[in-house]
Amino acid sequence: MNDKNTGTICVQGGWQPQNGEPRQLPIYQSTTFKYDDSEQMARLFDLEANGYFYSRLANPTNDAVARKIAELEGGVAAMLTSSGQAATFFAVFNICEAGDHIVSANTIYGGTYNLFGVTLKKMGIECTFVDPDADDSVIEAAFRPNTKLLFGETISNPGGNVLDIERFAHIAHRHGVPLIVDNTFATPVNCRPIEWGADIVTHSTTKYMDGHASAVGGCVVDSGNFDWFAHADKFPGLCTPDESYHGLTYATAFGKQAYITKATAQLMRDLGAAQSPQSAYLLNIGLESLHVRMQRHCENAQKIAEFLHDHPQVGWVNYAHLPDNKYYPLAKKYLPNGGCGVIAFGLKGTREDAIRFMDSLKLISIVTHVADAKTCVLHPASHTHRQLTDEQLRAAGIAPDLVRLSVGLEDISDLLADLRQAMAAV
Ligand SMILES: *Cc1c(COP(=O)(O)O)cnc(C)c1O
Repeated sequence: MNDKNTGTICVQGGWQPQNGEPRQLPIYQSTTFKYDDSEQMARLFDLEANGYFYSRLANPTNDAVARKIAELEGGVAAMLTSSGQAATFFAVFNICEAGDHIVSANTIYGGTYNLFGVTLKKMGIECTFVDPDADDSVIEAAFRPNTKLLFGETISNPGGNVLDIERFAHIAHRHGVPLIVDNTFATPVNCRPIEWGADIVTHSTTKYMDGHASAVGGCVVDSGNFDWFAHADKFPGLCTPDESYHGLTYATAFGKQAYITKATAQLMRDLGAAQSPQSAYLLNIGLESLHVRMQRHCENAQKIAEFLHDHPQVGWVNYAHLPDNKYYPLAKKYLPNGGCGVIAFGLKGTREDAIRFMDSLKLISIVTHVADAKTCVLHPASHTHRQLTDEQLRAAGIAPDLVRLSVGLEDISDLLADLRQAMAAV
């Protein structure tokens, strides 16, 4: 399907039924798979043959959906995970271990910020956070001899900042490490980071890909472009024999499939975090309409961003597709057809005014979620990021008065009417 356009891959990618097989992707709700002789099973365990034996490691439903996402991103292989958090963790831990270091944009999802700043640290992996808008020299000063990757989000959650992916890829490659991009908010419908030099792409499929707030999930996609052997000293996990697999060397045995094969064979085997086939099935249904939904999310969000921009009670709006936005030039370059439905803004007045505004909304609900069909709001300082101090919030690019509005697929006039009446109540 790699020669097809995005909308066609959304609808038909991944599952290609043969004569007489189900048209819709079947849910292979089975933990295990049957073989006629023990030799066949042994070859699977030795990674000498492709096939299924246990659904923690591989399942046909999950594989079809992973294949669709890999096709959408223009990658060579992908794996589904139980959540976006698991995807980020696996993407990083697949090439890092205790004693290593990573560099990340500081404008990232709160859960990722915590994973990198707190949990990875406990595992002996240090992270230096950088301002993604700083000069190359400032970002490059964060690199150390033991740095293993650079990380950023295409459109940051919740700030809405746009990453200069091409510049980040050049920086990473100058230091002999891959660039990992979390492409959750843009989705491959609006941006394909691999085309701009990203090596690995991650997703919380929980958001637009699923699109209906029905299943938590994640995905890691490999471009197959990073030359692990060119930096073999940095990536012994891929370039030296794995004793837990009879001395097999992933980059030799699997070439462009090495990164995802290692992530499956080692991380999924040892840490679990597999997606259930039922969730993968729901995700696939979401993906079938992703291209149509993203267009409507962006149209609605553009109108609401313009409304907020001109509203006297609104202090500031960050939506990259507003022409006076700081990120407008980057949005034009990386997101020419639209970004996402998420808008960050601040009301004039006190923190209480922001809370009164949110409590006065009738159609738009307060939920800890973004990026699905139903419009919702969240105040990160009092909800998702409440474990961060005001100082840490600012360091993560989040103003304490920031309201995150996730614009859904409802009729625009009803959404605008709800916003108007809630503003009037403040
Ligand atoms: C939600 C989110 C995650 C985490 O994903 P979960 O599916 O909630 O585990 C990671 N990155 C971004 C940008 C997100 O929005």
